[in-house]
Amino acid sequence: MTPANPASDESVPRSRELFERARSVTPGGVNSPVRAFHSVGGSPRFMVRGEGPHLWDADGNRYVDLVSSWGPMINGHAHPDVVRAVRDAASEGLSFGTPGVGEIDLAQEIIDRVLPVEQVRLVNSGTEATMSAVRLARGFTERRKVVKFAGCYHGHVDALLASAGSGVATLGLPTTPGVTGAQAADTLVLPYNDLDAVRQVFAEQGDEIACVITEAAAGNMGAVAPAPGFNAGLKELTSAHGALLIMDEVMTGFRVSRAGWFGIDGVAGDLYTFGKVMSGGLPAAAFGGRADVMSKLAPSGPVYQAGTLAGNPIAVAAGLANLRAADDAVYEALDRNARRLGELLGEALTAEGVPHQVAVAGNLTSVFFTEEPVHDYAGAQRQQTWRFPPFFHELLRRGVYPPPSAFESWFVNAAMDDAAFETIAEAAPHAAKAAARAEAP
Ligand code: PLP
Repeated sequence: MTPANPASDESVPRSRELFERARSVTPGGVNSPVRAFHSVGGSPRFMVRGEGPHLWDADGNRYVDLVSSWGPMINGHAHPDVVRAVRDAASEGLSFGTPGVGEIDLAQEIIDRVLPVEQVRLVNSGTEATMSAVRLARGFTERRKVVKFAGCYHGHVDALLASAGSGVATLGLPTTPGVTGAQAADTLVLPYNDLDAVRQVFAEQGDEIACVITEAAAGNMGAVAPAPGFNAGLKELTSAHGALLIMDEVMTGFRVSRAGWFGIDGVAGDLYTFGKVMSGGLPAAAFGGRADVMSKLAPSGPVYQAGTLAGNPIAVAAGLANLRAADDAVYEALDRNARRLGELLGEALTAEGVPHQVAVAGNLTSVFFTEEPVHDYAGAQRQQTWRFPPFFHELLRRGVYPPPSAFESWFVNAAMDDAAFETIAEAAPHAAKAAARAEAP
Protein backbone atom coordinates (compact mmCIF):
# COMPACT_ATOMS: atom_id res chain seq x y z
CA MET A 1 0.00 0.00 0.00
CA THR A 2 1.04 3.59 -0.49
CA PRO A 3 2.55 5.10 2.65
CA ALA A 4 0.62 8.21 3.78
CA ASN A 5 3.80 10.28 3.69
CA PRO A 6 6.08 8.72 1.10
CA ALA A 7 9.79 9.44 1.26
CA SER A 8 9.42 11.90 -1.60
CA ASP A 9 7.37 14.09 0.77
CA GLU A 10 10.31 14.70 3.12
CA SER A 11 11.57 17.49 0.90
CA VAL A 12 8.29 19.39 0.68
CA PRO A 13 7.32 20.81 4.10
CA ARG A 14 5.95 23.98 2.48
CA SER A 15 3.75 22.03 0.03
CA ARG A 16 2.45 19.95 2.92
CA GLU A 17 1.61 23.05 4.90
CA LEU A 18 -0.10 24.62 1.87
CA PHE A 19 -2.08 21.43 1.30
CA GLU A 20 -3.38 21.62 4.87
CA ARG A 21 -4.51 25.20 4.28
CA ALA A 22 -5.98 24.37 0.87
CA ARG A 23 -8.02 21.51 2.36
CA SER A 24 -9.67 23.88 4.79
CA VAL A 25 -10.91 26.21 2.04
CA THR A 26 -11.37 23.88 -0.97
CA PRO A 27 -12.86 20.36 -1.14
CA GLY A 28 -9.92 17.95 -1.05
CA GLY A 29 -7.57 20.93 -1.31
CA VAL A 30 -7.66 21.04 -5.11
CA ASN A 31 -9.65 22.48 -7.98
CA SER A 32 -9.47 19.32 -10.11
CA PRO A 33 -9.46 15.89 -8.41
CA VAL A 34 -6.39 14.16 -9.90
CA ARG A 35 -4.18 16.96 -8.57
CA ALA A 36 -4.80 15.74 -5.00
CA PHE A 37 -2.48 12.68 -5.35
CA HIS A 38 -5.34 10.48 -4.06
CA SER A 39 -4.31 7.33 -5.90
CA VAL A 40 -0.58 7.74 -5.22
CA GLY A 41 -0.71 9.12 -1.67
CA GLY A 42 1.33 11.91 -0.14
CA SER A 43 1.18 15.62 -0.62
CA PRO A 44 0.60 17.28 -3.97
CA ARG A 45 3.35 19.68 -5.00
CA PHE A 46 2.35 23.30 -5.06
CA MET A 47 4.12 24.60 -8.13
CA VAL A 48 5.25 28.20 -8.16
CA ARG A 49 7.22 28.52 -11.39
CA GLY A 50 7.67 26.90 -14.77
CA GLU A 51 10.35 27.48 -17.39
CA GLY A 52 11.20 25.32 -20.40
CA PRO A 53 10.97 21.63 -19.40
CA HIS A 54 10.98 22.37 -15.65
CA LEU A 55 8.63 23.18 -12.80
CA TRP A 56 9.66 24.42 -9.34
CA ASP A 57 7.62 23.72 -6.23
CA ALA A 58 7.05 25.98 -3.23
CA ASP A 59 9.98 24.29 -1.42
CA GLY A 60 12.39 25.15 -4.24
CA ASN A 61 12.61 21.62 -5.71
CA ARG A 62 12.99 21.41 -9.48
CA TYR A 63 11.21 18.79 -11.60
CA VAL A 64 11.32 17.69 -15.24
CA ASP A 65 7.64 18.10 -16.02
CA LEU A 66 5.97 15.16 -17.77
CA VAL A 67 2.46 16.57 -17.33
CA SER A 68 2.85 19.84 -19.24
CA SER A 69 -0.30 21.24 -17.60
CA TRP A 70 -2.12 18.12 -18.88
CA GLY A 71 -1.21 18.93 -22.43
CA PRO A 72 -1.14 22.61 -23.34
CA MET A 73 2.56 23.37 -22.84
CA ILE A 74 3.95 21.69 -25.98
CA ASN A 75 6.56 24.44 -26.33
CA GLY A 76 7.62 24.15 -22.68
CA HIS A 77 6.78 26.51 -19.85
CA ALA A 78 6.83 30.29 -20.16
CA HIS A 79 7.71 30.20 -23.86
CA PRO A 80 8.89 33.76 -24.64
CA ASP A 81 6.52 34.20 -27.63
CA VAL A 82 3.50 33.14 -25.58
CA VAL A 83 4.45 35.26 -22.58
CA ARG A 84 5.01 38.28 -24.85
CA ALA A 85 1.66 37.77 -26.58
CA VAL A 86 -0.11 37.63 -23.20
CA ARG A 87 1.68 40.77 -21.93
CA ASP A 88 0.92 42.68 -25.13
CA ALA A 89 -2.73 41.65 -25.12
CA ALA A 90 -3.16 42.40 -21.41
CA SER A 91 -1.77 45.89 -21.83
CA GLU A 92 -4.65 46.62 -24.25
CA GLY A 93 -7.39 45.56 -21.81
CA LEU A 94 -8.54 42.28 -20.32
CA SER A 95 -12.02 41.63 -21.69
CA PHE A 96 -14.48 43.55 -23.85
CA GLY A 97 -17.51 41.31 -24.31
CA THR A 98 -17.49 42.24 -28.00
CA PRO A 99 -16.08 40.46 -31.04
CA GLY A 100 -12.29 40.77 -31.28
CA VAL A 101 -9.69 40.48 -34.04
CA GLY A 102 -7.72 37.70 -32.32
CA GLU A 103 -10.80 35.46 -32.30
CA ILE A 104 -10.88 35.47 -36.09
CA ASP A 105 -7.16 34.71 -36.28
CA LEU A 106 -7.40 31.80 -33.84
CA ALA A 107 -10.43 30.33 -35.62
CA GLN A 108 -8.60 30.68 -38.94
CA GLU A 109 -5.47 28.98 -37.56
CA ILE A 110 -7.59 26.02 -36.42
CA ILE A 111 -9.45 25.85 -39.75
CA ASP A 112 -6.16 26.00 -41.69
CA ARG A 113 -4.74 23.12 -39.69
CA VAL A 114 -7.69 20.71 -39.52
CA LEU A 115 -9.20 20.25 -42.96
CA PRO A 116 -12.72 19.06 -41.99
CA VAL A 117 -13.21 22.11 -39.74
CA GLU A 118 -14.98 24.88 -41.65
CA GLN A 119 -16.22 27.00 -38.75
CA VAL A 120 -15.21 27.36 -35.12
CA ARG A 121 -16.87 28.62 -31.93
CA LEU A 122 -14.58 29.52 -29.00
CA VAL A 123 -15.47 28.53 -25.44
CA ASN A 124 -13.65 28.45 -22.07
CA SER A 125 -12.96 24.76 -21.40
CA GLY A 126 -12.92 21.37 -23.06
CA THR A 127 -15.98 20.45 -21.01
CA GLU A 128 -17.90 23.33 -22.52
CA ALA A 129 -16.72 22.32 -25.98
CA THR A 130 -17.98 18.73 -25.72
CA MET A 131 -21.20 19.76 -23.96
CA SER A 132 -21.93 22.26 -26.72
CA ALA A 133 -20.96 19.86 -29.52
CA VAL A 134 -23.33 17.19 -28.18
CA ARG A 135 -26.14 19.74 -27.86
CA LEU A 136 -25.50 20.88 -31.41
CA ALA A 137 -25.49 17.30 -32.70
CA ARG A 138 -28.81 16.67 -30.98
CA GLY A 139 -30.26 19.92 -32.33
CA PHE A 140 -29.02 19.21 -35.85
CA THR A 141 -30.21 15.61 -36.05
CA GLU A 142 -33.30 16.09 -33.87
CA ARG A 143 -32.33 12.84 -32.09
CA ARG A 144 -31.54 12.15 -28.43
CA LYS A 145 -29.06 9.32 -28.04
CA VAL A 146 -25.31 9.67 -27.70
CA VAL A 147 -22.78 6.85 -28.02
CA LYS A 148 -19.57 7.16 -26.00
CA PHE A 149 -16.80 4.72 -25.11
CA ALA A 150 -15.81 3.41 -21.69
CA GLY A 151 -12.57 4.97 -20.47
CA CYS A 152 -12.89 8.01 -22.73
CA TYR A 153 -13.19 11.30 -20.86
CA HIS A 154 -14.91 14.27 -22.40
CA GLY A 155 -14.91 16.62 -19.42
CA HIS A 156 -17.48 16.60 -16.63
CA VAL A 157 -20.56 16.89 -18.84
CA ASP A 158 -23.47 15.14 -17.05
CA ALA A 159 -24.38 12.97 -20.03
CA LEU A 160 -20.75 11.96 -20.66
CA LEU A 161 -19.52 10.99 -17.18
CA ALA A 162 -20.68 7.36 -17.39
CA SER A 163 -17.65 5.01 -17.35
CA ALA A 164 -15.39 8.00 -17.92
CA GLY A 165 -11.60 7.95 -17.84
CA SER A 166 -9.21 10.47 -16.26
CA GLY A 167 -10.07 11.40 -12.64
CA VAL A 168 -13.24 9.30 -12.72
CA ALA A 169 -11.08 6.26 -13.50
CA THR A 170 -8.38 7.31 -11.02
CA LEU A 171 -10.93 7.45 -8.21
CA GLY A 172 -12.53 4.20 -9.39
CA LEU A 173 -16.00 5.72 -9.79
CA PRO A 174 -18.51 3.89 -12.03
CA THR A 175 -20.40 7.16 -12.32
CA THR A 176 -21.14 10.08 -10.03
CA PRO A 177 -23.91 11.16 -7.66
CA GLY A 178 -25.55 14.32 -8.94
CA VAL A 179 -26.09 12.96 -12.45
CA THR A 180 -29.71 11.87 -12.63
CA GLY A 181 -30.95 8.81 -14.47
CA ALA A 182 -32.64 11.12 -16.94
CA GLN A 183 -29.39 12.93 -17.76
CA ALA A 184 -27.60 9.65 -18.43
CA ALA A 185 -30.52 7.74 -19.95
CA ASP A 186 -29.70 8.71 -23.51
CA THR A 187 -26.02 7.84 -23.22
CA LEU A 188 -24.99 4.46 -24.62
CA VAL A 189 -21.58 3.34 -23.33
CA LEU A 190 -19.64 0.84 -25.46
CA PRO A 191 -16.18 -0.72 -25.16
CA TYR A 192 -13.46 1.30 -26.93
CA ASN A 193 -12.07 -0.25 -30.12
CA ASP A 194 -15.06 -2.60 -30.46
CA LEU A 195 -16.56 -1.81 -33.84
CA ASP A 196 -18.90 -4.80 -33.67
CA ALA A 197 -20.55 -3.33 -30.58
CA VAL A 198 -21.04 -0.05 -32.44
CA ARG A 199 -22.46 -1.90 -35.46
CA GLN A 200 -24.91 -3.71 -33.24
CA VAL A 201 -26.14 -0.60 -31.45
CA PHE A 202 -26.65 1.18 -34.79
CA ALA A 203 -28.51 -1.85 -36.15
CA GLU A 204 -30.88 -1.71 -33.17
CA GLN A 205 -31.21 2.03 -32.46
CA GLY A 206 -29.58 3.78 -35.43
CA ASP A 207 -32.45 6.16 -36.13
CA GLU A 208 -32.37 7.47 -32.54
CA ILE A 209 -28.62 8.16 -32.34
CA ALA A 210 -27.63 11.80 -32.66
CA CYS A 211 -23.89 11.27 -32.45
CA VAL A 212 -20.93 9.14 -31.53
CA ILE A 213 -18.35 11.00 -29.46
CA THR A 214 -14.88 9.51 -29.23
CA GLU A 215 -11.43 10.65 -28.22
CA ALA A 216 -9.70 10.69 -31.61
CA ALA A 217 -7.07 8.59 -29.81
CA ALA A 218 -7.82 7.71 -26.21
CA GLY A 219 -5.56 9.40 -23.67
CA ASN A 220 -7.66 9.36 -20.52
CA MET A 221 -7.36 5.67 -19.58
CA GLY A 222 -3.65 5.92 -20.30
CA ALA A 223 -2.66 6.17 -23.96
CA VAL A 224 -4.71 3.76 -26.10
CA ALA A 225 -4.55 4.29 -29.86
CA PRO A 226 -7.60 3.47 -31.98
CA ALA A 227 -7.20 0.07 -33.65
CA PRO A 228 -6.62 0.26 -37.42
CA GLY A 229 -10.00 0.97 -39.03
CA PHE A 230 -11.80 1.87 -35.79
CA ASN A 231 -12.20 5.60 -36.43
CA ALA A 232 -12.92 4.97 -40.13
CA GLY A 233 -15.58 2.43 -39.09
CA LEU A 234 -17.19 5.01 -36.80
CA LYS A 235 -17.27 7.45 -39.70
CA GLU A 236 -18.89 4.89 -41.98
CA LEU A 237 -21.55 3.87 -39.45
CA THR A 238 -22.48 7.40 -38.40
CA SER A 239 -22.72 8.56 -42.03
CA ALA A 240 -24.82 5.53 -43.02
CA HIS A 241 -27.30 6.21 -40.19
CA GLY A 242 -27.53 10.01 -40.39
CA ALA A 243 -25.71 10.50 -37.07
CA LEU A 244 -22.75 12.82 -36.50
CA LEU A 245 -19.23 11.81 -35.51
CA ILE A 246 -17.69 14.07 -32.85
CA MET A 247 -13.94 13.73 -32.73
CA ASP A 248 -12.82 14.91 -29.30
CA GLU A 249 -9.33 16.29 -29.92
CA VAL A 250 -9.09 18.28 -26.70
CA MET A 251 -6.04 16.20 -25.77
CA THR A 252 -4.67 15.14 -29.17
CA GLY A 253 -5.44 18.39 -31.04
CA PHE A 254 -2.33 20.26 -32.21
CA ARG A 255 -0.18 17.97 -30.02
CA VAL A 256 0.18 14.67 -31.86
CA SER A 257 0.66 16.56 -35.14
CA ARG A 258 -0.02 20.05 -36.57
CA ALA A 259 -3.52 18.82 -37.38
CA GLY A 260 -3.93 16.63 -34.30
CA TRP A 261 -5.05 13.02 -34.73
CA PHE A 262 -6.72 13.98 -38.02
CA GLY A 263 -3.19 14.61 -39.28
CA ILE A 264 -2.35 10.98 -38.39
CA ASP A 265 -5.34 8.96 -39.61
CA GLY A 266 -7.15 11.44 -41.89
CA VAL A 267 -10.61 10.29 -40.74
CA ALA A 268 -12.90 13.33 -40.92
CA GLY A 269 -15.29 13.96 -38.06
CA ASP A 270 -18.42 16.05 -38.55
CA LEU A 271 -17.66 18.01 -35.39
CA TYR A 272 -14.42 18.50 -33.45
CA THR A 273 -13.64 19.62 -29.93
CA PHE A 274 -10.37 21.29 -29.01
CA GLY A 275 -8.71 22.76 -25.91
CA LYS A 276 -5.35 22.55 -24.16
CA VAL A 277 -2.67 23.36 -26.83
CA MET A 278 -4.87 25.93 -28.59
CA SER A 279 -5.26 27.76 -25.26
CA GLY A 280 -1.55 28.26 -24.66
CA GLY A 281 -2.29 27.37 -21.01
CA LEU A 282 -5.05 29.93 -20.43
CA PRO A 283 -8.75 29.03 -20.21
CA ALA A 284 -9.80 28.65 -23.84
CA ALA A 285 -11.22 25.82 -25.93
CA ALA A 286 -13.27 25.44 -29.09
CA PHE A 287 -15.59 23.29 -31.09
CA GLY A 288 -15.99 23.34 -34.82
CA GLY A 289 -16.73 21.34 -37.92
CA ARG A 290 -18.96 21.25 -40.98
CA ALA A 291 -20.38 24.67 -41.81
CA ASP A 292 -23.90 23.28 -42.39
CA VAL A 293 -23.88 21.87 -38.85
CA MET A 294 -22.14 24.84 -37.17
CA SER A 295 -24.58 27.26 -38.81
CA LYS A 296 -27.34 25.79 -36.66
CA LEU A 297 -25.75 27.58 -33.67
CA ALA A 298 -27.24 30.83 -32.36
CA PRO A 299 -27.31 33.52 -33.61
CA SER A 300 -27.25 32.05 -37.14
CA GLY A 301 -29.41 29.09 -36.08
CA PRO A 302 -31.67 27.90 -33.26
CA VAL A 303 -29.26 25.89 -31.05
CA TYR A 304 -28.31 28.14 -28.13
CA GLN A 305 -24.75 28.43 -26.86
CA ALA A 306 -22.97 31.44 -25.34
CA GLY A 307 -20.19 32.66 -22.99
CA THR A 308 -19.39 35.90 -21.16
CA LEU A 309 -15.64 35.36 -21.51
CA ALA A 310 -15.68 33.20 -24.67
CA GLY A 311 -12.93 34.40 -27.02
CA ASN A 312 -11.24 36.34 -24.22
CA PRO A 313 -8.48 38.44 -25.84
CA ILE A 314 -5.69 37.30 -23.51
CA ALA A 315 -6.57 33.61 -23.86
CA VAL A 316 -6.90 33.96 -27.62
CA ALA A 317 -3.51 35.70 -27.86
CA ALA A 318 -1.88 32.96 -25.78
CA GLY A 319 -3.45 30.18 -27.87
CA LEU A 320 -2.50 31.75 -31.16
CA ALA A 321 1.10 32.34 -30.04
CA ASN A 322 1.34 28.74 -28.78
CA LEU A 323 0.12 27.38 -32.11
CA ARG A 324 2.33 29.70 -34.16
CA ALA A 325 5.40 28.72 -32.11
CA ALA A 326 4.68 25.05 -32.85
CA ASP A 327 6.51 24.60 -36.15
CA ASP A 328 7.68 21.36 -37.77
CA ALA A 329 10.74 21.26 -35.51
CA VAL A 330 8.47 21.31 -32.44
CA TYR A 331 6.41 18.36 -33.70
CA GLU A 332 9.59 16.44 -34.52
CA ALA A 333 10.88 17.18 -31.01
CA LEU A 334 7.61 16.04 -29.40
CA ASP A 335 7.72 12.71 -31.25
CA ARG A 336 11.42 12.23 -30.51
CA ASN A 337 11.00 13.11 -26.82
CA ALA A 338 8.03 10.75 -26.42
CA ARG A 339 10.06 7.92 -27.98
CA ARG A 340 13.06 8.68 -25.79
CA LEU A 341 10.91 8.78 -22.64
CA GLY A 342 9.22 5.50 -23.54
CA GLU A 343 12.58 3.83 -24.17
CA LEU A 344 14.04 4.97 -20.83
CA LEU A 345 11.02 3.81 -18.86
CA GLY A 346 10.71 0.55 -20.81
CA GLU A 347 14.42 -0.34 -20.46
CA ALA A 348 14.37 0.33 -16.71
CA LEU A 349 11.24 -1.75 -16.13
CA THR A 350 12.50 -4.59 -18.33
CA ALA A 351 15.79 -4.65 -16.42
CA GLU A 352 13.86 -5.20 -13.18
CA GLY A 353 11.52 -7.79 -14.72
CA VAL A 354 8.42 -5.67 -14.05
CA PRO A 355 5.45 -6.63 -16.24
CA HIS A 356 4.65 -3.55 -18.28
CA GLN A 357 3.57 -2.00 -21.57
CA VAL A 358 4.87 1.36 -22.68
CA ALA A 359 1.79 2.45 -24.58
CA VAL A 360 1.81 5.13 -27.25
CA ALA A 361 -0.83 7.02 -29.18
CA GLY A 362 1.08 9.41 -31.40
CA ASN A 363 3.32 11.23 -28.91
CA LEU A 364 1.03 10.52 -25.96
CA THR A 365 2.72 7.93 -23.77
CA SER A 366 1.83 5.95 -20.69
CA VAL A 367 2.94 2.96 -18.66
CA PHE A 368 0.57 0.06 -17.98
CA PHE A 369 1.78 -2.51 -15.45
CA THR A 370 0.63 -5.59 -17.36
CA GLU A 371 2.02 -8.16 -19.82
CA GLU A 372 -0.99 -7.75 -22.10
CA PRO A 373 -1.29 -4.97 -24.68
CA VAL A 374 -4.13 -2.64 -23.70
CA HIS A 375 -6.88 -1.89 -26.24
CA ASP A 376 -9.72 -0.73 -24.03
CA TYR A 377 -10.73 0.36 -20.53
CA ALA A 378 -11.18 -3.20 -19.25
CA GLY A 379 -7.59 -3.93 -20.31
CA ALA A 380 -6.34 -0.75 -18.63
CA GLN A 381 -8.12 -1.74 -15.41
CA ARG A 382 -6.53 -5.20 -15.42
CA GLN A 383 -3.04 -3.69 -14.87
CA GLN A 384 -1.29 -3.97 -11.51
CA THR A 385 -2.13 -0.43 -10.44
CA TRP A 386 -0.52 -1.03 -7.04
CA ARG A 387 2.89 -0.85 -8.69
CA PHE A 388 2.24 2.73 -9.77
CA PRO A 389 2.44 4.71 -6.47
CA PRO A 390 5.99 3.60 -5.50
CA PHE A 391 7.10 4.00 -9.13
CA PHE A 392 5.63 7.51 -9.18
CA HIS A 393 7.13 8.61 -5.85
CA GLU A 394 10.60 7.39 -6.72
CA LEU A 395 10.51 9.47 -9.91
CA LEU A 396 9.18 12.43 -7.98
CA ARG A 397 11.84 12.42 -5.28
CA ARG A 398 14.48 12.29 -8.02
CA GLY A 399 13.20 15.39 -9.80
CA VAL A 400 10.75 13.96 -12.35
CA TYR A 401 7.08 14.93 -12.28
CA PRO A 402 4.86 12.23 -13.89
CA PRO A 403 1.05 12.34 -13.87
CA PRO A 404 -0.15 11.22 -10.42
CA SER A 405 -2.34 8.40 -11.74
CA ALA A 406 -1.95 5.08 -13.53
CA PHE A 407 -4.79 6.10 -15.87
CA GLU A 408 -3.36 9.26 -17.38
CA SER A 409 -1.17 9.95 -20.38
CA TRP A 410 2.29 11.41 -19.93
CA PHE A 411 2.83 14.64 -21.86
CA VAL A 412 6.28 15.53 -23.15
CA ASN A 413 7.16 18.99 -24.39
CA ALA A 414 9.56 20.27 -27.03
CA ALA A 415 11.72 22.11 -24.48
CA MET A 416 13.03 18.83 -23.00
CA ASP A 417 16.79 18.77 -23.54
CA ASP A 418 19.59 16.28 -22.88
CA ALA A 419 19.90 17.45 -19.27
CA ALA A 420 16.18 16.78 -18.70
CA PHE A 421 16.58 13.29 -20.15
CA GLU A 422 19.63 12.67 -17.95
CA THR A 423 17.47 13.41 -14.91
CA ILE A 424 14.89 10.90 -16.17
CA ALA A 425 17.58 8.34 -17.03
CA GLU A 426 19.00 8.56 -13.51
CA ALA A 427 15.59 8.31 -11.85
CA ALA A 428 14.02 5.57 -13.97
CA PRO A 429 16.06 2.57 -12.65
CA HIS A 430 15.22 3.52 -9.05
CA ALA A 431 11.55 3.88 -9.93
CA ALA A 432 11.60 0.51 -11.71
CA LYS A 433 13.16 -1.11 -8.61
CA ALA A 434 10.40 0.41 -6.47
CA ALA A 435 7.76 -0.95 -8.87
CA ALA A 436 9.43 -4.38 -8.75
CA ARG A 437 9.43 -4.36 -4.92
CA ALA A 438 5.76 -3.32 -4.71
CA GLU A 439 3.45 -5.91 -3.20
CA ALA A 440 -0.11 -6.61 -4.26
CA PRO A 441 -2.60 -5.40 -1.63
N1 PLP B 1 -11.97 15.98 -23.67
C1 PLP B 1 -10.79 15.38 -23.49
C2 PLP B 1 -10.34 14.33 -24.47
C3 PLP B 1 -10.00 15.71 -22.40
O1 PLP B 1 -8.82 15.09 -22.22
C4 PLP B 1 -10.46 16.69 -21.49
C5 PLP B 1 -9.65 17.06 -20.31
O2 PLP B 1 -8.68 16.46 -19.97
C6 PLP B 1 -11.69 17.30 -21.73
C7 PLP B 1 -12.42 16.93 -22.83
C8 PLP B 1 -12.22 18.35 -20.78
O3 PLP B 1 -11.45 19.51 -20.89
P1 PLP B 1 -11.43 20.57 -19.67
O4 PLP B 1 -10.67 19.92 -18.56
O5 PLP B 1 -10.74 21.76 -20.26
O6 PLP B 1 -12.84 20.85 -19.32
